[in-house]
Amino acid sequence: MTKAGFSALVVTLMPDFFPGPLGQSLAGEAMAKGAWSLGVKDIRDHGRGRHRAVDDTPAGGGPGMVIRADVLAEALDAAIPADDPRPRLLMSPRGRVFDQKMARKLAEGPGVILVCGRFEGIDERVIETRGLEEVSIGDYVLSGGELAAQVVLDAVIRLLPGVMGGEGSDIEESHEQGLLEYPHYTRPRLWEGREIPEVLTSGNHAAIAKWRRAEAERVTRERRPDLGAKLPPPAPAKKPRPGTKKHAPRGDKPDDLV
Ligand code: SAH
Repeated sequence: MTKAGFSALVVTLMPDFFPGPLGQSLAGEAMAKGAWSLGVKDIRDHGRGRHRAVDDTPAGGGPGMVIRADVLAEALDAAIPADDPRPRLLMSPRGRVFDQKMARKLAEGPGVILVCGRFEGIDERVIETRGLEEVSIGDYVLSGGELAAQVVLDAVIRLLPGVMGGEGSDIEESHEQGLLEYPHYTRPRLWEGREIPEVLTSGNHAAIAKWRRAEAERVTRERRPDLGAKLPPPAPAKKPRPGTKKHAPRGDKPDDLV
């Protein structure tokens, strides 16, 4: 951890995957500014024999290969000082599912160590002895932890101080308050017969805020009942929601156009 700012270390068999997309756009610019830095440790540096073998067959039989405990532990010990304060996450479909709260917590810390599995995964004893916390990016199986590590880093980097544009531009986003975000619109005002909801062009900021909150709650209830369960019950339907003119569905007759 030489530089100030958020310091990430990725431990991987695929060092060429990095920085990959994290070297572009928002994350890449943030890296150039020194808001975060990236170290990459190649597990194969500690491979065994002429072919630098890193894996072996699973004890007890079965398909695939497993990353050896001795090889991976050596790689971790060589790259991570004993007093390193950064959380050590193992990318793993068995892990706790990564979410915005975890991203925010990581962004508040000094950095993160991300260990990427390959093949069938890694020897369980390394998880136990090196204090690795298993983190999944969702209920599906990838061929390696590298894309998962990039997903985690991308979500964290955009939350680092000074990385995103306007202050507070992330506060209303999906998952920040247990809500999905309200719909967005921009120019042109009338497009293919569909108007921007009137309230959004009214200049009435209180009405806009109210509409957005109501829309965020509606979208959350409709799409994610698991999140919506935490919301207060919907207000009893009175008039149509302000500014939510029914938009002509695709293929409607031209006389429906505004
Ligand atoms: N045999 C394992 C899957 C191994 S996939 C199992 O059934 O649990 C190979 C590697 O890809 C894993 O070691 C892990 O690092 C990564 N990986 C796969 N799916 C992932 C996910 N959903 N989230 C995070 N990492 C994942």
